[in-house]
Amino acid sequence: MLDGRSRGSVLLRRVLAGTPEGESPLTHAELVPAREGVTQGWPDWVPEDVRAPFLVRGIARPWSHQAAAADRAHAGEHVVVATGTASGKSLAYQLPVLTRLNADPRATALYLSPTKALGADQLRTVADLRVDGVRAASYDGDTPLPERDWVRQHANWVFTNPDMLHRGILPRHGRWTTFLRRLRYVVIDECHTYRGLFGSHVALLMRRLRRVCARYGAHPTFVLASATVSEPAVSASVLTGLDVAEVTDDGSPRGARAVALWEPPLLEEVTGENGAPVRRSAGAETARMLADLVVEGARSLAFVRSRRGAELTALGARRVLAEIDEELAAQVAAYRAGYLPEERRALEQALLSGSLRGVATTNALELGVDIAGLDAVVVAGFPGTRASFWQQAGRAGRSGDDALVVLVARDDPLDTYLVHHPEAMLGAPLERCVLDPTNPYVLAPHLACAASEIPLTREDVASLGGDAALAVVDDLVAEGLLRRRRGGWFWSHPTDRPHAGVDIRGSGGEQVVLVESDTGRMLGTVDPGTAPATVHPGAVHLHQGESYVVDSLDLDDGLAHLHAEDPEWTTQARTVIDITVEETEHCASHGDLQVCAGTVEVTEQVVGYLRKLPSGRILDSTPLDMPARSLRTRAVWYTLTEDALLRAGLDPSRWPGALHAAEHAAIGLLPLVATCDRWDIGGVSTALHPDTGRPTVFVHDGHPGGAGFADRGHEALRAWLTATRAAIADCECRSGCPSCVQSPKCGNGNDPLDKAGAIVVLDVVLTRLAEG
Ligand SMILES: [Zn+2]
Ligand SMILES: [Zn+2]
Repeated sequence: MLDGRSRGSVLLRRVLAGTPEGESPLTHAELVPAREGVTQGWPDWVPEDVRAPFLVRGIARPWSHQAAAADRAHAGEHVVVATGTASGKSLAYQLPVLTRLNADPRATALYLSPTKALGADQLRTVADLRVDGVRAASYDGDTPLPERDWVRQHANWVFTNPDMLHRGILPRHGRWTTFLRRLRYVVIDECHTYRGLFGSHVALLMRRLRRVCARYGAHPTFVLASATVSEPAVSASVLTGLDVAEVTDDGSPRGARAVALWEPPLLEEVTGENGAPVRRSAGAETARMLADLVVEGARSLAFVRSRRGAELTALGARRVLAEIDEELAAQVAAYRAGYLPEERRALEQALLSGSLRGVATTNALELGVDIAGLDAVVVAGFPGTRASFWQQAGRAGRSGDDALVVLVARDDPLDTYLVHHPEAMLGAPLERCVLDPTNPYVLAPHLACAASEIPLTREDVASLGGDAALAVVDDLVAEGLLRRRRGGWFWSHPTDRPHAGVDIRGSGGEQVVLVESDTGRMLGTVDPGTAPATVHPGAVHLHQGESYVVDSLDLDDGLAHLHAEDPEWTTQARTVIDITVEETEHCASHGDLQVCAGTVEVTEQVVGYLRKLPSGRILDSTPLDMPARSLRTRAVWYTLTEDALLRAGLDPSRWPGALHAAEHAAIGLLPLVATCDRWDIGGVSTALHPDTGRPTVFVHDGHPGGAGFADRGHEALRAWLTATRAAIADCECRSGCPSCVQSPKCGNGNDPLDKAGAIVVLDVVLTRLAEG
């Protein structure tokens, strides 16, 4: 494709020309061809009143996926539309909802979005259409009190978010009787963002909503919009508790895109932790690329993970450009969250008009900001999910022109895998949006909320969470929170409601509050479970891209004091971990391999921390005295017999390092099959585990009760471990580095690690799996 004359190919040649001679960081380049749009006639059930405003806006006919999803929703079928960025998913729900509200003055609809910005955007679009009979309004934390009464009484399409539904609407459903009784549609936008623990909370919230609606005789149709993920109907069904059909054939047109995968080379002269080689940083590589693109006159956006990284990338690009022409240097800026709205608009305008050509940004741009049709997008480090990668990439070439998209690998095993396996980026997605509404730690607070909304019957409990929920209800009775009477379970307190104490975006338990020492300003909160490892005294803590150093941590009061400081080192906690198997489920033997999933108890104690330079060099180690923390959660594990390892040629002295390295890489690759972050999960490996009696590798969820990640790993074990093995083998380092088996969150200082041994272990596992 490099001989191509398309704009994207030209830009790619230009960036490649800037790399040092004899070095090819390019691992793959592919021209993803343009796609013609496929339209369909307006469904005949869409009345003139609804059709007309779209025609005025230049939408002559809907795309095929819009029509297909709208048809199903109109017929009362629950449906999820999962197509690409900017494919116009909104129309799929707007058509059936607007048609219904237009035809039936008494019908109502509810729209839910994960962020206020997106909700406001969608509301504006709907309001601008001015369809007869539609009274759309927002109801969220920003809605003034007097307006709330009006919304409740008069609006027939309410735009809100899960937080407000949980705290504001369901606990006071009595005031919403009329609205809920007439509820015909529930729209869940960007539903792939409801994953992990947050997703599990929202899934139970949807069940509570449906129960309250049913009480008023309403059974609304659910219409969901999702990014492209694997099996969207499965995830949507878990999220809503309903049978959901899927529409995935994208009928929207797309410009051609040159997609390039890029792996910065290992540096000769620098070594990192335990003597490991170091790659040129993704940020430095991106800065240089951004400069090349600006020289070429391309309007370009670079996505960088931290705010500081964005500033540094912009600075790096400006420095390169200043040597050529000061005026070019002035065309590059950094953009981040925290800018005032007017500053943001000015920057967006400058980029659109072309007076600004290169912008480095954090993910702040991902949702709710309108920049599209750029010539090039550079993504520095895989953003964690394919959905967010394509969302970022989708900023390029939206107008139909062909454009360049580059993924620059960071030193992370998942990035290594992706740049060597383009099919994982460009082919059908493997990544499933994972959540687990049967987690007892999530079920308990929602059962309490549900009981306080309307007393629970046995059928209610079963439909909220099956057998798992019945056990949880018994616990709540024993704790005195629920009372059993004839007719069901009742919330015990006549006045106090449980809702305020339930943080649907948190992980339960009192959060640790971060306070700036000098000013007393509250910066945010962190999970109490991870606090000892992330905000211990002396820790360098990134908060919304800003760097702080922790002065003190008081776990009893749930308070950490920090001051703004950006030292050249980072910190890494050292921990002692113990894992016991509480309950084994789904155990399968494949010869001398055994694979299981179940419940485990992980006990972790932070015993100190290391100060590390960016090169990986360790400055010193400081001991800490922290309480041990126990976590009961879900895990997947495999065991091998000692005999199998010996026969594979692994000497027992190598077992700890081989299993440890295999564990690290597996944690790094789990996000390939489940939408999670490597920080959502943990692992333990041991040459002899007391509960299994064998060499064992565990990978576990990081939150109490789990969020479905380990279970998804168990389900997709072969694909997951095949990719894990490939990521290790694909990395050209000799004995392990951060791009393959070293982990930034290892509690053992990445020691011992045996890269070659890990490949042997995984080969044995994969051979057994293939046989059986
Ligand atoms: Zn490596
Ligand atoms: Zn480790």
